[in-house]
Amino acid sequence: MPAPDCFRQEEIPVQGPEDGEVLLKTHYISVDPYLRGRMREGKSYMAAFNPGEPMRSGAIAEVVESRNPVFTTGEYVTGMLTWSEYQTSSSDGLIKVDPDVAPLSAYLGILGMPGLTAYLGLIEIGRPQSGETLVVSGAAGAVGIVAGQIGKILGCKVVGIAGSEEKTQMLKADFGFDAAINYKNTSNIRKAVGEMCPSGVDVYFDNVGGEISDGVIMNINKFARIIICGAISQYNETRMPTGPRLQSVLLANSALMKGFLVNDYTEKFPHATGQLTHWLLEGTLKNKETVIEGFENLPGAFIGLFEGTNKGKMLVKV
Ligand code: NAP
Repeated sequence: MPAPDCFRQEEIPVQGPEDGEVLLKTHYISVDPYLRGRMREGKSYMAAFNPGEPMRSGAIAEVVESRNPVFTTGEYVTGMLTWSEYQTSSSDGLIKVDPDVAPLSAYLGILGMPGLTAYLGLIEIGRPQSGETLVVSGAAGAVGIVAGQIGKILGCKVVGIAGSEEKTQMLKADFGFDAAINYKNTSNIRKAVGEMCPSGVDVYFDNVGGEISDGVIMNINKFARIIICGAISQYNETRMPTGPRLQSVLLANSALMKGFLVNDYTEKFPHATGQLTHWLLEGTLKNKETVIEGFENLPGAFIGLFEGTNKGKMLVKV
C-alpha cells in the first residue's frame, strides 16, 4: 500500500517556453489506480516511474504562454502532464477541451479515459443485449459508474458491487442500478450475486478481480462475456494470490473472458467521445466526481483510491 512518505514535494523554477512549446498552469490532476502499476519494477504495459522524477498522469491545464501557433493563451488542454502547478510542455499529445461544452473536470472522467474505458469495454467486449443481466464490480468508481449507466441505457438489468452502504444506496437511488451489493458486509459473494441475478449473469464488467470476481463468475450464463478491465484488489499484493481454477466454468458456459486496455481502441475514441457527450448533455448519463482541493493533497487522493474514499472519478483541483 503506498504511503504518504513515498511522495516528496519540491519547489523548482519553471523554464519559459521555447519555440513550439507552451507554458501550462494546471487546474485538475487525475489520480488513477493504474499509476500503482508504474510504481513497481518489472514488465507492465507502461514503463515504471523513475524514483525521484515527478509523477505523471492525465491533467487539465490552461495555456498561459504559447510559442506554438496551434495553441493560444487562455485555451484549456488535456494531456499526460507532470504533477506540478506549472510546467512547460512540448505540446505533444495535448488536446484542446472546451469548458462551454462540459465542466473541465469531466474531460478527465466521464468524457475522458475512464468514460472511454467503460464505453469501449462494454460495447466492444461485453456486447450487452437488452434484457440481459450485467454485473459491474468497482461499480461506484469512475469506470464502474459509467459502465453501469450505459448498461441501463442499453436495456440491461444492472447489478453493482461496491464497498459501502452509502455507495450501494447511491447506485440504486441516483444512477438507476437495479440492485447493489456491499462486498464489505457480504461473506458469500457467489450467493449474494445468485440472489440478485436469478436469471444468471450475461455480462460481467470486472474492475477489481480477486475473490469478488470468483464469486460473480460462478454465476455466469451460457455465452457470458467477462470484461477484464482492472484488478485493483491485487495492485498492492506482493505475491499473486491463487483462487479457484475458472477454466471449467468458462468452458462449460462457452464464455468469453477478455483483458483489454482502452488504448487498444484509439481509433474508436472520437465516436465513443461523441456518444458519451451526447448522453451527458441530454441527461441520460450522470456525472459523479470526488474533487479534492489542493495540490499538496495529491498523494492522499491517490492512496484514497485503494481505501475507497471516492465516489465516481477521483480528481485533485490544483
Ligand atoms: P475507481 O473505481 O474510481 O477507484 C478505485 C475503487 O476501487 C475504489 O473507490 C474502491 O471502491 C475500489 N477498491 C479499492 N480497493 C479494492 C479492493 N481491494 N477490492 C475491491 N474494490 C476495491 O477507479 P477507476 O479509475 O474507475 O478504475 C477502476 C478499475 O479499472 C481499476 O482496476 C483500473 O485499474 C481499471 N482501469 C482499466 C483501464 C483499462 O484500459 N483496462 C482503464 C481505466 C481503469 P470500493 O469502495 O467499492 O472498494
